[in-house]
Amino acid sequence: MNSPIADAVKPIASENNIVAAKKNNIRQRSAKVNVDKITLAHGSGGKAMRDLIDDVFVGTFDSDELSKLEDQARFDLTDLSIFGDRLAMTTDSYVVDPLFFPGGDIGKLAVTGTVNDLAVGGAVPLYLTCSMIIEEGFLIADLRKIVRSMKNTADEAGVSIVTGDTKVVHRGAVDKLFINTAGVGVIPHSVNMTSDRAMPGDVIIINGYVGDHGAAIVDARGEMSLQNTIETDCQTLNELIQLMLTICPDIHCMRDATRGGIATVLNEFAIGSNVCMHIDESALPIRHEVRGMCEILGLDPLYLANEGKLIAIVPAEFAEQLLEVMKTHKSGIESAIVGKVTESPRGGVILNTTFGGKRMVDMLVGEQLPRIC
Ligand code: MG
Repeated sequence: MNSPIADAVKPIASENNIVAAKKNNIRQRSAKVNVDKITLAHGSGGKAMRDLIDDVFVGTFDSDELSKLEDQARFDLTDLSIFGDRLAMTTDSYVVDPLFFPGGDIGKLAVTGTVNDLAVGGAVPLYLTCSMIIEEGFLIADLRKIVRSMKNTADEAGVSIVTGDTKVVHRGAVDKLFINTAGVGVIPHSVNMTSDRAMPGDVIIINGYVGDHGAAIVDARGEMSLQNTIETDCQTLNELIQLMLTICPDIHCMRDATRGGIATVLNEFAIGSNVCMHIDESALPIRHEVRGMCEILGLDPLYLANEGKLIAIVPAEFAEQLLEVMKTHKSGIESAIVGKVTESPRGGVILNTTFGGKRMVDMLVGEQLPRIC
């Protein structure tokens, strides 16, 4: 209706009719899925798919942007620019097996992983996408649990899930359920954390126990019969990171130590900044159960996956103050200074062992544990 007449009869914008227009734009939904299992029809683009989207996704994610069911979510650039001057974008796919494990599930993992990948760049995470590839025959009840878990985690992190996609494939074409999430955030003006900024003299900090997620998945697969269950450390870190940045806006490097563990991240920093990362084995927080499992299975906790652990390289003069503040946050109670940055050997990571020796810690070669995240 782009004509002068249409323009002439256009109502004058007032707060009330903007609210009314918004409400009309969000279509009312009452469709329900009344079967127990996903069928190919749920991915067909027809009524069954529409009902699934309305009932399971739109109903749970409860986002105005998603409810409009446009082909894309839309954002006001002015609103985004309040948070900073750079947009951050990331994406990740989740294929973890099993889907449910102590302390989490694939949905919690998907939201956490994407939020954390934005947050460790200093970004304020804002919006997420959710794409699912579902195997025919998957239980709707399990799908509901996973979507609810995604919503709870998103709420906790203060992000909205604003657009998505659903595909259903024949039995055997995927194993139960795969999820892809992408995320958008905004980086504040003052923040510049990149892997090439570590400098000799900097201090290495970690926010708690290493290797819990990897160990929890091994445990959940029933490969060990442990006396005490190990829970994943899966948690969003954006709040802790914002707190850290208020104490020290010039943190040099930060990454979350997911697949490949802390060894991989430290190697990335050492290579990226052309410096050496020196860590002390005795300072590394590792749970007794995780250490025990590693000894039995011949795993190295330095390479075990984490889903709620960050490594920060910080200027030495801020290290103690940062540590103190991190310990006041629920995601940083067990934070520790685990080492320092030195000049040489350039590009290397060296572990000072508890026995007084030194060993080089290389990048992970091959796969220690498949389908961990
Ligand atoms: Mg990451």
